[in-house]
Amino acid sequence: SPGLYIVATPIGNLGDITLRAIEVLRGAAAIACEDTRVTGKLLNHLGIDTRMVRYDDHASDTDRERLLTRIAQEPVALVSDAGTPLISDPGYRLVRTARERGLPVTSIPGASAATVALTLCGLPSDRFLFAGFLPPKSKGRKDVLRELGNVAATLIFYETGPRLCDSLADLAETLPGRDVAVARELTKRFEECRTGSAEELASHYRTHPPKGEIVLMIGPPGEKVIGAAEADAMLLSELAAHKA
Ligand code: SAM
Repeated sequence: SPGLYIVATPIGNLGDITLRAIEVLRGAAAIACEDTRVTGKLLNHLGIDTRMVRYDDHASDTDRERLLTRIAQEPVALVSDAGTPLISDPGYRLVRTARERGLPVTSIPGASAATVALTLCGLPSDRFLFAGFLPPKSKGRKDVLRELGNVAATLIFYETGPRLCDSLADLAETLPGRDVAVARELTKRFEECRTGSAEELASHYRTHPPKGEIVLMIGPPGEKVIGAAEADAMLLSELAAHKA
């Protein structure tokens, strides 16, 4: 039936797609995708010949309106090059507008590099904060690391091979002593997950330039991070003890 179907696709291993995702892609009137060559390969592998329309980061308001008109009339799937749409990928504005107009939106879950990396690396998984890509320049990166460094959660970032060593060096400087994990080429032949301090990982990757796609994770701060109210209470009890 008409509506927008957000469909997760594999992040490397072509087997990682759900039965429902295949059914929806096959039954859709159109598949909106970032790159018709990339999605074309997946569809070809699955034996699906649904037509594709381009919808990427450069999509204009007019492109979106055209797609929304179709969504009101027929089932339209949204996929990205890999993994879950909207997760560091296009789709947010489309979903938001579709919902504002009361159009049906359904999400067909599947792989996302962030959750695959988290479940693999052995860092605490009870609380995590996904923060997309780290800024490309050192200054911006250190600002983000400092901003999020006190959050009592495992931090998850997407990263690129050429920038990994610089990011690890900035991490060693801004948040020393933290457990760090680097997950690379998830679900693919050369999948790797390496843990250690930022210094250890930086020195490893300096001599082994990392190829492929990367997720960088930072374990939560070791010492308990206390809130203002808790700090006040501690100070007051110290003062009381002093008076006595
Ligand atoms: N929407 C995707 C998802 O759900 O994972 C992420 C898209 S984002 C543009 C691409 C980034 O995701 C890559 O630069 C890398 O950091 C991460 N990534 C995607 N596939 C990966 C894989 N197989 N192994 C490690 N990281 C991956």
